[in-house]
Amino acid sequence: MEEIYRTLGIDKEVYRLGEEVLSTLRDRFIEIDANAEYRQLGVIDAMQRARLSEAHLSGTTGYGYNDIGRDALEAVYAGVFHTEDALVRPQIASGTAALQLCFMGLLRPGDILYSPCGKPYDTLEEVIGIRDADGSLREFGIDYLETPLVEDGGFDFPAIEAQLKESRIRLVTIQRSKGYQTRPSFTIDTIRTLIDFIRAHRADVTIMVDNCYGEFVERLEPTDAGADLVAGSLIKNPGGGLAPSGGYVCGRRDLVEKISHRLTSPGLGKEVGASLQTLPACFEGLFLAPYVTASALKGAIFAASLYEKIARESGLPFTVHPASDVPRTDIIEAVTFHDERALTAFCEGIQSASPVDAHVRPEPWEMPGYDCPVIMAAGAFISGSSIELSADGPVRAPYTVFFQGGLTFAHAKLGILKTVQKLSEYGIFDPKTIQ
Ligand SMILES: *Cc1c(COP(=O)(O)O)cnc(C)c1O
Repeated sequence: MEEIYRTLGIDKEVYRLGEEVLSTLRDRFIEIDANAEYRQLGVIDAMQRARLSEAHLSGTTGYGYNDIGRDALEAVYAGVFHTEDALVRPQIASGTAALQLCFMGLLRPGDILYSPCGKPYDTLEEVIGIRDADGSLREFGIDYLETPLVEDGGFDFPAIEAQLKESRIRLVTIQRSKGYQTRPSFTIDTIRTLIDFIRAHRADVTIMVDNCYGEFVERLEPTDAGADLVAGSLIKNPGGGLAPSGGYVCGRRDLVEKISHRLTSPGLGKEVGASLQTLPACFEGLFLAPYVTASALKGAIFAASLYEKIARESGLPFTVHPASDVPRTDIIEAVTFHDERALTAFCEGIQSASPVDAHVRPEPWEMPGYDCPVIMAAGAFISGSSIELSADGPVRAPYTVFFQGGLTFAHAKLGILKTVQKLSEYGIFDPKTIQ
């Protein structure tokens, strides 16, 4: 084993350090596998209930009228998320697009979108109009309010209660995963507490959850905890690495219907939108998604443990979010380096472990939707897919890398060992000094 790792550029010391950390994670991994098994059975059950058939695997072109495969895929998603209906389409360009579709479908001029959990994901700032953008909610006279989290990352319930007195609030959005922040991600139990609190004060508002990176991590989903809607990207967890593009919205039938009129056209709704050639990959990806998510989760926990050990024993000021022993609700692991070179080295390590484009070196660039240069590492089969092993970090202090994915644990493991190897080659730390 050491030898094949050596072939891939991992020194003996780095490999051994990895094995030592792994030996402490066996129980955690058993728990993750049991969870994946539970969710796998849920997916199979949903497919059987939808009477998934061979005929559902061929797509349509053009308008996509009578696309029975598309309708079956949406029935399966609704089954997995325990909702009345779903919209699962390659025409939903990304996670951001799925979320903005919910906002635009459900809000009207004069309404307010409310986030009780602080700042939303970076790309939503332009959707909302926090940063000027053509076509933002603000341009349509839709306002936005947020209540910041308290210092330990919890909800500010008194402030939320006060804010909910604003009667123009019509849609509440809760972001499950931390995104590009170092706050904790919200577990399903935490989300349930927040939803119960909101409902107790405002029975009339719609509550949606940005579910990106959270799918299949726990046994339940936000829609099992009282959310009216969940939305996310097919090139993250639920696409299982196979879905070539797309987004999903699952929830109450009347809400999904309204949202579908924004996606296609008022009057057309869910009836049009060809699935093209995407159906086999979307079904099979969803089928594999519980175990793919489990692999990514193991990678995240392995990285957390490894970097905690390196920080502890080398005295470097690295911190990980979440810590390795915290219960998980998403697949993102953040490592804060306080050192730009370490951020670069980490991304180079992930890139060099990729099956595709391993020979290229990541460079920071001004990505659309972000307000500072971002360095990204991804050598994915599907461009931009972040359920595949990938890392990205905004190039600004405190130099935090957000790491996620890995279709198989072996690949995630190699990638993480490569990051450690690169840090060692950059002279940032010496693996020989770590026990
Ligand atoms: C990835 C992500 C988004 C946006 O999805 P894209 O597909 O990148 O547009 C939104 N919210 C969260 C929490 C995310 O992780």
